[in-house]
Amino acid sequence: MAATEKALLESYLKQLYLKSFIQNYEPLAEEAVQSNQSYTRYLLALTEQEVLQREANRRQRRLKEAKIPLVKELSTFDFSAVPQLNRQKVLQLAQGDYIDQVEPVILLGNPGLGKTHIATALAVAATRQMRRVRFFNAAALVSELLAAQQEQRVAQFLNKALGHQLIVIDELGFIPFTASGAQLMFQFCSTLYEQVAVIVTTNLNFADWVQVFGDERLTVALLDRLTHKAHIVEFVGDSYRFRQRLERQEGP
Ligand code: ADP
Ligand code: MG
Repeated sequence: MAATEKALLESYLKQLYLKSFIQNYEPLAEEAVQSNQSYTRYLLALTEQEVLQREANRRQRRLKEAKIPLVKELSTFDFSAVPQLNRQKVLQLAQGDYIDQVEPVILLGNPGLGKTHIATALAVAATRQMRRVRFFNAAALVSELLAAQQEQRVAQFLNKALGHQLIVIDELGFIPFTASGAQLMFQFCSTLYEQVAVIVTTNLNFADWVQVFGDERLTVALLDRLTHKAHIVEFVGDSYRFRQRLERQEGP
């Protein structure tokens, strides 16, 4: 093909946003010649590459938009370290039906048992299923809500949250809220109720939530919403990191 034709083709492909075509049309054409492929087969192969590349890009974008602090996978989770954890349940959740049904997931247990790991892995799995996900640390979320309140854009913040299909609130209960913080967290969760699936990780037994939220009526209402139709997954045992440290100290 003449250089001018090549330049023209590439400029057309660029106009049509066919980035992967530009990368692949020459090597695939060579392959087609060598293997005696028909024109339509060549076009199919070229188009397939474009579709696959776009899908991969979209997944990557979803993952980036989720703002997950530390990406973790279910495949790196050692279920044998927490034998009482319902593995079947976790694997089933990773399929994502709870997101379509807008059912909350509560991961409950002492620190160091892998709640954040599982919540993250479920969030990552959801982005791979092309779902719009957002991961928040609970304390950071409250700070963001308080800042939004100061700038009178709470409604905007809530609206943006509603644009997601899954929201993770990690480590609820580690730090007690101020009264206005609790109020805003309540408003946040109420807004998401039956609209957006939520995963909450917490070290708090339900009986202890009042201490963190301060207000009994508010807490009861919040728990009512969060636990309605919820998948409650309990983590029991000794801290994974702590156990690894012990094992290292004891040696082989
Ligand atoms: P939690 O949120 O319950 O406090 P994390 O998920 O933060 O616990 O776990 C602490 C660290 O230990 C993380 O780096 C996590 O990846 C790792 N971890 C915890 N449990 C397991 C496990 N069963 N298999 C593999 N890694 C684990
Ligand atoms: Mg955690």
